[in-house]
Amino acid sequence: IMAPKKRETRKRKAEDPKKDGDTMEKEPRSEEVRKRDISGCSKYIGAHVGIQGGIWKAVDSCVTMGGSSFALFLGSQRSWTRPALDSSAADKFLEQCSLHKFDPAHILPHGSYLMNCGSPKEDVFQKSQALLVDELSRCSRLGLTLYNFHPGSSLGTITTEECMDKIASAINHAHQQTPTVVTVLENMSGQGSTVGGKFSELKTIIDKVRDQSRMGVCLDTCHAFAAGYDLTAEGGVRAMLDEFDQQVGLKYLKAIHLNDSKGKTTPHQWIINSKLGCNLDRHEDIGKGHIGISAFRDIVNEPRLDNIPLILETPGRPGFEYAEQIELLYSLCNNGQRYTEPL
Ligand SMILES: [Zn+2]
Ligand SMILES: [Zn+2]
Repeated sequence: IMAPKKRETRKRKAEDPKKDGDTMEKEPRSEEVRKRDISGCSKYIGAHVGIQGGIWKAVDSCVTMGGSSFALFLGSQRSWTRPALDSSAADKFLEQCSLHKFDPAHILPHGSYLMNCGSPKEDVFQKSQALLVDELSRCSRLGLTLYNFHPGSSLGTITTEECMDKIASAINHAHQQTPTVVTVLENMSGQGSTVGGKFSELKTIIDKVRDQSRMGVCLDTCHAFAAGYDLTAEGGVRAMLDEFDQQVGLKYLKAIHLNDSKGKTTPHQWIINSKLGCNLDRHEDIGKGHIGISAFRDIVNEPRLDNIPLILETPGRPGFEYAEQIELLYSLCNNGQRYTEPL
């Protein structure tokens, strides 16, 4: 979602011969880009990167912005069916990952927004289930071990329990059809008929799945804040993780989506307002929204979040793009003192 903007910027630069010299030279060729040296730090901070021009380009984009982990889509967000994954593209992706020494545990593909594995409409459920199988197969081919998606929605016409049954059955089916990839449920903002706002719902889905060794959770800070976890409070991050541990279990926590939240002054008001829009539109750049910088400082210093991908899905406005936000987050890392100054 954010990456196309970047592509356009790059294209414009490339078309402008005056700018070409300065800007293009700064971009190292892929053989020369080096992953950030994070020795001494166990946080893998990165961002959702685009796949325009080839899925392998995601790896380079991540390294170029100084990321240590990344998320990506596995194909178009507009279509239920996609052309088969090009074999040479998959090989290039694997080469790039190995060149930059990415551990698959630090790469978190994001599922298609079209999918609703909890849909009461039989055709949508069938298409969602098929797309889930297709995306997990793509992950396997790309050497990926995690796959993050939104659990689903009852659309208000079936019960939450029935919706969770459907989601679990789609996951069970997909697990049967594909070898090893871990399906990672994302927590939602708890709006309307969407399932997964409560940690207990994520746990219920996991319980209904046969192979729980292939289940995981990705916690999105913006969604958690919207669902009522007050990350602005002192110790808010710790409290959320404690609750997650009690209700779901930390062993299931595979990733974090690092998003500030725009709009309202309190989580409660935010919930009321978010009925009007989609979750992604409400993400805000780190430290620029209502969660604020302190929570993110706590996150990058929280030992329970070591060695998992911490992924930005923020707007990345000009002057504060992913590279700058990643830099900011790393600058807060390993600092015991709580950040109190405004940005
Ligand atoms: Zn998501
Ligand atoms: Zn997210």
